[in-house]
Amino acid sequence: MRKKYIIANWKMSPLSLRQAESLFNKIKKGLPRLKNVSVIICPPLVYLAELMRSYSGRRIIFGAQNSFWENVGPFTGELSPHQLFELGAEYVILGHSERRALGETNSLVNKKIKAAAGAGLNVVFCIGEKERDERGDYLGFIEKEIKEGLAGFSREKLGRLLIAYEPIWAIGRAGDEAASSDLLHQMKIFILKILKSLYGERGMEVPIIYGGASAPENARELLSEGEVRGLLVGHQSLIPENFIEIIKIADSLK
Ligand code: PEP
Repeated sequence: MRKKYIIANWKMSPLSLRQAESLFNKIKKGLPRLKNVSVIICPPLVYLAELMRSYSGRRIIFGAQNSFWENVGPFTGELSPHQLFELGAEYVILGHSERRALGETNSLVNKKIKAAAGAGLNVVFCIGEKERDERGDYLGFIEKEIKEGLAGFSREKLGRLLIAYEPIWAIGRAGDEAASSDLLHQMKIFILKILKSLYGERGMEVPIIYGGASAPENARELLSEGEVRGLLVGHQSLIPENFIEIIKIADSLK
């Protein structure tokens, strides 16, 4: 049985540490014993250290939503992957479309990915098209995101890589606007082919997960028929009972 990943991206919510603790505690209390799922929570950085300090369990792993491409130096306001690792964070989300919309390019994402993996973090590398066109140009766009994002990323570090396919047109939408499981399955195969062309058979082992309007009502189909290894969950991860339901569904599947 291959492990699944359910990753919460809290983005820039909630508004206070008290609310973040309350949300975290509800998730913590509601989590069943899990056989087959890694639960990763990526809160805003200002809450990360405090949530980690207050948690002594093993069922929840912590991650960040961004990190810089250098570990130390005169980079006011940036977040060192080494410092994150030292803090005990294990994952970082990189290349998210909301950061790309603020100006992150493939080459910048590439530098961040290499620095984060080099510092010992597991990287959730987000890719995804803004829209689909009939000519299939979006496939070229995805291929470029992957190839430029992973330029110079060594085969030895592949164990620290997950790819999150997140079509931008699905992000933040209602559950019925998520990618269909058919489409997701096709995209998963497409992404794995690119990874195979870059890294050979070893590339096929990189977990491909999905993000974009995942919710309790579509999680089963996305995971089992889309055949992805997990979900990156945005707004539904802020609703503890829904996030827990998604985790339970993932854990019930082979
Ligand atoms: C995301 O932004 O990573 C995401 C998956 O958002 P949502 O689940 O809200 O669509």
